[in-house]
This record gives sequence, C-alpha cells and structure tokens, in this order.
Amino acid sequence: MTGCPPKRVRILIAAPLPRVFTYEWCLRETPAFGQRVIVPWGNRQRVAMVHSVVETSESPEEFELKAVTACLDDGDLLRGDWQRLIEFAADYYHYPLGLIALECLPKALRVLNAKGVEPVMVAKSREYANAAQTKRDCVTESHIAGRMEQAEPDSNWVAPRKAKPVAPSKFRLNDEQQSALTALAETHGFCSFLLHGVTGSGKTEVYLHAIAEKVAAGHQVLVLLPEINLTPAAQKLYEERLKPFKVVVLHSNLAELTRTKAWFLAATGVADVVIATRLGVLTPLPRLGFVVVDEEHDPSYKQQEGMKYNARDLAVILAKQRDVPVVLGSATPSLETWQKAELGQYKRLSLTTRAVMGASLPHVELINTANFKPKEGLSEPVMQALKATYEAGKQSIVFLNRRGYAPQLMCEACGWVAGCKHCSTHMVWHKREKSLRCHHCGAGQRVPSHCPDCGNQDLTGFGRGTQRLEEVLALLMPEATVLRIDADSTRNKGQVEALLEQAHSGEADVLVGTQMIAKGHDFANVELVVALNVDASLFSHSYKAPERLFAQLMQVAGRAGRRASEGTQSARMVVQTRYPDHPLFAALKAHDYPSFAAHELQGRLEARMPPYSYQAMIRADHKNLGNCLEFLKLAKSLGEDLARDEGVVFICDPVPLTIVRVAEVERAQMLVESESRPALHRFLNAWLLALWAMKTSTRWFVEIDPAEL
Ligand code: ADP
Ligand code: ZN
Ligand code: ZN
Repeated sequence: MTGCPPKRVRILIAAPLPRVFTYEWCLRETPAFGQRVIVPWGNRQRVAMVHSVVETSESPEEFELKAVTACLDDGDLLRGDWQRLIEFAADYYHYPLGLIALECLPKALRVLNAKGVEPVMVAKSREYANAAQTKRDCVTESHIAGRMEQAEPDSNWVAPRKAKPVAPSKFRLNDEQQSALTALAETHGFCSFLLHGVTGSGKTEVYLHAIAEKVAAGHQVLVLLPEINLTPAAQKLYEERLKPFKVVVLHSNLAELTRTKAWFLAATGVADVVIATRLGVLTPLPRLGFVVVDEEHDPSYKQQEGMKYNARDLAVILAKQRDVPVVLGSATPSLETWQKAELGQYKRLSLTTRAVMGASLPHVELINTANFKPKEGLSEPVMQALKATYEAGKQSIVFLNRRGYAPQLMCEACGWVAGCKHCSTHMVWHKREKSLRCHHCGAGQRVPSHCPDCGNQDLTGFGRGTQRLEEVLALLMPEATVLRIDADSTRNKGQVEALLEQAHSGEADVLVGTQMIAKGHDFANVELVVALNVDASLFSHSYKAPERLFAQLMQVAGRAGRRASEGTQSARMVVQTRYPDHPLFAALKAHDYPSFAAHELQGRLEARMPPYSYQAMIRADHKNLGNCLEFLKLAKSLGEDLARDEGVVFICDPVPLTIVRVAEVERAQMLVESESRPALHRFLNAWLLALWAMKTSTRWFVEIDPAEL
C-alpha cells in the first residue's frame, strides 16, 4: 500500500433524492463512471455506482466519510455514451440520476443476494456473452466465408465483421419503399425520419432492408416496439431475415436470467439487433448505428411508473447524442411528430398505398345508432355484416375498448351499484371468473348473490365489455369460432401467442378485443372490422382523446383487407355512432390522416395546447385529499415568484383527479405550462429544488409532457 491519501468519490445510489453521495475510495481500482460498487448505506450494504472523482481542490466534507466497500466491475459496460443518455433523462424528466442509473439495470446487477455478495449470475452472464461472441464468429465465418472484411480497429469490444445478411425477400420493394430505404441507408449521421405509411404499406419491409444494410456495415440497431405482444413475431421475422446476425429481445416480462443475458449481449455489443419495448432505450449499445421506433404514436411508449419518460422521445435524443439516424414509423403519427415533419425538422418518407398487389384500405361505413337501435350492443346492419363475412369464409374483428363483462353491476330495485372499497370507482363484473374486479387497484371479490342494500337477488350488468360481447356474438353465430383477445384472456404465459396463432391461422372466425388486437398484427384473412362504443372519446375532457381515437380506429381498420381480395366483397369497416357527422369520421372515411392532423393541430394552436406549449404535471398523493390540495397550494405559492421571474410560466390551480381515490390513496394534480420549453425547465429546476427541501407527509412527483390530463 502506498501512502497516498484516499480519494473521495461521488456515488449514485438508488434513493429518491436528487443528489449524489460522497464516499471515500481506498480500493486498488481506479474509480470511473459506471463502475458498480458496494457501499454502506444506513446499517446495510447496497449496490451503487461511481459517478465521479471529487477533485482535491474542492472543499472537504464537514463530516467523516464512509468508505466504498468493494468494487464490482471495471465500468467497461456503462460507458460515456450511456452516461450522457441517462444524464439527459434525469435532467429532462427531473428525476434522481442515481435512481434511474440503477433502476434501468437488470436486477442481477443491482441487488445483493442474502449473503451480501454479488449474485453469481452476473459472472455467468459475462461468460455467456463471451461464449455467444465466439459462437457468432463461427456462425458468421461458416455462413459467409470469403465475404468478410476486418472492421475498423477503433470499434469497441467486438471487432464486427462486414457481411450481408441472408435477408431473403419474397418480393421487390416498390418505388416508395425503395426511396424510403435509400434515404435511410444513405444517412449515417443524425437525422430524424418520419416513415408515414398507411397500414399494410410495408413499413416493416423497409425497416428490415435498412437494418440489413446497417448490421452488414458493423452497426448495432435498436428496434423499439410498443407492446410485449408484438415482440415474438418480430423476433421470428428478424432472426429469419437477418441471419446470421444476432437478434435479442428485451422486455420486462422475460425471466430474470433471460433478460440479464439479453441485456449483456446488447451492452457488450455482441447483439447486432436489439428488439425491445420502451425500457430498451436505456440499454447501453456500444456499436449503435441506427434506431427504429415502430408505431411511434403509441401511448405505451410512455413509462407510467418511476421516471415517466417517453421512450420515443428518448430514442430521438439517443440518436442525436450518438450521431446516428432514427426512423419513427406510423400510419397515424403523433401530432407532435407530425408537426415536426411539417416544419421540416423531421424528414418525411411516405408510403401511400398498400404493398400487397390488389390489397386496398377498407371502405368505412358509419351506422347511426339513432336510426338503428343496437340490441345487446349490435345494430342490425352490423349483425348482417358479421354474418355475411362469416358465410364468405372471412374473418371479422369486433373492437371494443373495454374489458370485463359489464362495467357496472347494479340493483335495479334500489339503484345500488357495486363500488370498490379502496377506490372512488365502480367494480367491473367479470362473469366468467364469477368476480367483481377493480380495474384501478386490482381488488377482487366474488359476485354478491343479492343486493347488500335491499336484498334483491336480481342484480344486472350495466353496459358492455368484451366478455359480454363474446357471449352475444356466440349466440348470433353459433357455428362460428369467436376468440376474445384482451388483458384478461392473455394473463397467463403463452396465452397471447396461442390466441394470436389461432387468429393468424384462420381458425378463428371472429376476433373480439380491446386495442390489443388493433396494433401491428398482419392478419391475412380479416375482411370486416366493427368498432363499437366510440362516442365517449369524441367528447372526452382529455384534449388528446380525438387523436387517440382516430389512431385507434385507423389502426384497427388497418387490420382488414391486407391481402388481395377475391370475389366481390371488399374489406369494410363499420363504426356504430350517434354522431356520424363528426369531422373525425369524415377524415376516417377518406383515410386522410393529414387532413385530420391539420384540423387537430389548428385546434391545438388556437387553444395553446401541446405541441404549441410545454407542460409539466405535479401530482400529490395522500390518504387525505385535503393534504394533497394543501401541499399543491403551498407549492403553487412557492412557485409563483419563480414563475414570475420567467414571465411565461403559468401554474394552474390544483384539482382532484377524476378518480380521486385509488387503493386508499387520494390524488390531486396541478398543471404547469409554458410556451417556452427552456423557460419551463429553468423554472422547474429552481422550483423542484425548493419542493425537495420541504418537509411533507404528502408523496409527490412531477411528470414532464404528461400524457393524461
Ligand atoms: P405495415 O407495417 O406498413 O402495416 P407490413 O410491413 O406489415 O405493413 O406489410 C404488409 C404486408 O405487405 C406484409 O404481408 C408484407 O409481407 C407485404 N409486403 C411488404 N412489402 C411488399 C412488397 N414490396 N410487395 C409485396 N408485398 C409486400
Ligand atoms: Zn338493491
Ligand atoms: Zn379499487
């Protein structure tokens, strides 16, 4: 041991505090950002991460420092690139850096086992990564011997080899696909592309070709998908087409060991293509050369817990930081993305027709429920269309964005409605499971045999969910196979795959489901789409409701007519509504996303709503609504002087949430708005610092670019 004095280091700890912690460093290793360490914390040891070394010139601590216990790795995995991304995210989302830095690692890397030592799994994963690397080299060599070139010596970790993937394509790209591909393949530095392609226009084919070019040039590619359900089909397709390149999948539903392995393959640069849901954006990707965000408009890209980030937005930041191209694809882009394309900030690539010869977008019909009174939710023309489609040997989709049997169980004698004990909301009746369930807190109970208030034994379901619709359809078409696809029917492992398989194979005649069936699937035989119960969204208090509804309807319509249709019947969509003259439907009928977007954006501009203003939401949770409101009022008064300094920042009044109580917790929120993003963030920096310092029993957090208002 030499006599030099111990260093001081700043350490990131997964604690809900917006600061780093200083420790003494008496270890042999040289401290560097990203190194995982064990530190004493309270009366136990925990995994933390080195942030930086404190320069000796900086003022000494006033109290005695604890020392870092041990160093777990050399920090080669979590490099500067990753650091820049999580630092951006922590800044932008005003979230503790330590929390996000550790939270986004696989559990095996951030949790000590019972004996207080690092889980063995980590060492295993590393070996695994090494082994996989060796194996890949062999595969590459045997498959494409003679076509390899040594990659540039400056590339990290793996010395990637150049080779064309097998990528057998069944067809030639059409002209629009080809020019989109050329634009993507020829761009090497940062550029945001919007691939706006109608449903079935062959966006996936464009991604595949572009990805093939990028991996062949030695790059790693990140492909983000909005839903876990979409990953199995994507994995199969990408593996098939990109052989022998290594494709891995990352999402939160993987077994811990599988996820850790996949994370290592991505982080060590072994994986060439990483298909992931939103969390994938925070994975270190040392050889990143291209980013794809499919269905970029999808609200699932927004993380709802912890750091409430939008993975689509972070993907663009990631691409910018790494100076690589990113493509956002959708048939119904989010309005913020569309606006950027209109302004020329994003480069728009358009696919205007369906790729399959003879396939066409479905004809949209509106059924006015004032003229055709629905029975059990279905109007006469809808029933006829369903029967005709079945008789023609084609599949139908019935879209209803509400699961369960009936949204309410009530007593018609006295008006009692089954409510949740823990929330200010009704329980949903799940007939098949013979239970009442709260869709907000998850509480469940058996269906009561009689009304608890008056004893009436005749309780009835009010309204209609997918379970009830499934029952109605089975009665309507006793011969047909009706399949329900929603969060309830897919709860168990493997169920989604099995149901989708039945849907794809044509075994099912009618698919009933929530938005789960609307997304991304390439069903071959669907000729009819029915949309029910859409009117509530037309007049919702949420300013984003029309955008969401339009996207959902376009997407679900997009499942029909994806192959050339033989015979006379062509693909149709039937929408049941009391308001057939609503302008949203005119755009839907014309499959005219641009005119819908122009109309909506004009409305947003006039109302000064995003993307023409920037918002942050501060939420307060407490057993007592009074405490929430009191905290927010105090926060508002603290913020008002600061907001005045910025001039253009407005703090609205605190309001209780529409569903005030969930799981015994009452909630209120307060919106902060500005037409200047920098001003908003300057304000938040100062304001949140003051709020962090406040002592309060109210739990609170801030959400940037809130999705729900
Ligand atoms: P999107 O993602 O735009 O909805 P997909 O990529 O799923 O569309 O493509 C829809 C269908 O068109 C798929 O079955 C695909 O195989 C097919 N397809 C794509 N490109 C072509 C092409 N150039 N010629 C013929 N068929 C194509
Ligand atoms: Zn009663
Ligand atoms: Zn509840």
